[in-house]
Amino acid sequence: MIIMVLNCGSSSVKYQLFDIKKEEVLAKGVVERIGLDGSRLKHMTEKKDVFIEREINDHDEAIELIIKVLSDEDYGVIENIEEIKAVGHRVVHGGEYFTESSLITEEVMQRLEECIPLAPLHNPANIMGIKAIKKILPEIPQVAVFDTSFHQSMPDYAYLYALPYELYEKRKIRRYGFHGTSHRYVSKRAAELAKLDYNQAKIITAHLGNGASITAIKNGKSVDTSMGYTPLEGLVMGTRSGDLDPAIPVALLRENRMNPASIDNLLNKKSGVLGISGISSDMRDLEKAASKGEDRAKLALTIYAYRLKKYIGAYLAVLGGADIIAFTGGIGENSSFIREKSLEGLEFFGIILNKEKNEKARKKEVDISAKDSKVKILVIPTNEELVIARDTQEIIEKEGK
Ligand code: ADP
Repeated sequence: MIIMVLNCGSSSVKYQLFDIKKEEVLAKGVVERIGLDGSRLKHMTEKKDVFIEREINDHDEAIELIIKVLSDEDYGVIENIEEIKAVGHRVVHGGEYFTESSLITEEVMQRLEECIPLAPLHNPANIMGIKAIKKILPEIPQVAVFDTSFHQSMPDYAYLYALPYELYEKRKIRRYGFHGTSHRYVSKRAAELAKLDYNQAKIITAHLGNGASITAIKNGKSVDTSMGYTPLEGLVMGTRSGDLDPAIPVALLRENRMNPASIDNLLNKKSGVLGISGISSDMRDLEKAASKGEDRAKLALTIYAYRLKKYIGAYLAVLGGADIIAFTGGIGENSSFIREKSLEGLEFFGIILNKEKNEKARKKEVDISAKDSKVKILVIPTNEELVIARDTQEIIEKEGK
């Protein structure tokens, strides 16, 4: 069964085509700069990479081009577009409506529209992608897989902020959490690798990419996570501040004559390790700069790891200890330095790293815990697209589509 996975952003569409029974990726690619100068498609298959540069004005045109390329005589991977049985979409925000992935119906579309105020940059793009498919392939079933739904199992005392309760009731201001597809995939895989029953395990997953979040999972359910109402809360990230005193933006608004847009830009685009170091948001650049003795790069790495450690400590308390700590995302999968620093001093919890294994672990599934570690420490590359494809298959089979 062939399933297309789409991740639609405001000016880009990423895609992967799966033969889901074999869990094999037949082709993947991205359309970038939609509606801008220099729009282009990059298409990759086992045999060939293809670049097409041409005007691509909107998501309809982008998706039409993707479909054309997938069934192209020269570099396509299917003969006929009808071979695609379903489309799975990454949808950023499902609000409180969606606790799991869902077949897209008129009612679901309405709910997605209602969630736009919660994700004003992301949900409109996801909706455009769904509408484009509906226009081009009207009969094909579509499934939405949400970044937020895995975290809907959090108890109220974890998701509520200490704000007037009406803000939750009237404006739905609460912790939602993100990266849910990744935390779900990595935690399940971690339990498999550690030969533990997922439904009886205590797992901490750290997804450390450009955005970063950490989740406490108990008996297969997310019970707390570091991102909040938006993806700005929690860990220090590439360009996002993570946690800070909420009085700071108020003070900046008052004193520096900043406005909401410039505050938003400051906290989301100019902060994090980029803001501290003044060098880069990219962990590789920072590790290089730190090794050359750049003090602010060193400081950025130290703060990053320290804040991650504080969350690990908090979630050990939330869970009453942990069976597994799993690292994923570009930094979690590659940076032995961040993994080591964030676990340093946690030995008394039974968290003991095998430094040699840690040093070598990159981009593949590895157990990096020492023999006498009570807690398994794992590196697990995430695979959100595979989860989306699996969920899509499962739902369309269940719904008899
Ligand atoms: P996104 O969240 O955009 O999907 P990724 O998960 O790809 O991002 O993570 C990007 C981050 O991973 C960057 O900070 C990058 O520097 C870091 N990274 C990638 N490879 C390495 C590496 N070998 N060592 C350290 N950091 C790395």
